[in-house]
Amino acid sequence: MRREKAPDKFSQCRKCGARIIFVRMKSGKSMPVNPNFVNFRRDGGKDRIVLANGEVTSGTIVTDPGEAQGFGYVSHFATCEYAQTFRRK
Ligand SMILES: [Zn+2]
Repeated sequence: MRREKAPDKFSQCRKCGARIIFVRMKSGKSMPVNPNFVNFRRDGGKDRIVLANGEVTSGTIVTDPGEAQGFGYVSHFATCEYAQTFRRK
């Protein structure tokens, strides 16, 4: 497998302690994501996928690489058990 550009930095979620990395978005903001890649289908599904180049796309996460049409990261906020805390206003 070809080695992609190293992620900007490894970090840790301050809420749950999970390891996360930051992907620099096109907007210049850094988005915390889970460090493992996910495979997804580009079908405009409900999952939001953060691509390594900072683009966000929608699709459906699949576990079978044979079905995958791309890969990327998932926002940590989507899976963090403390996500409600983040969303609270
Ligand atoms: Zn977390």
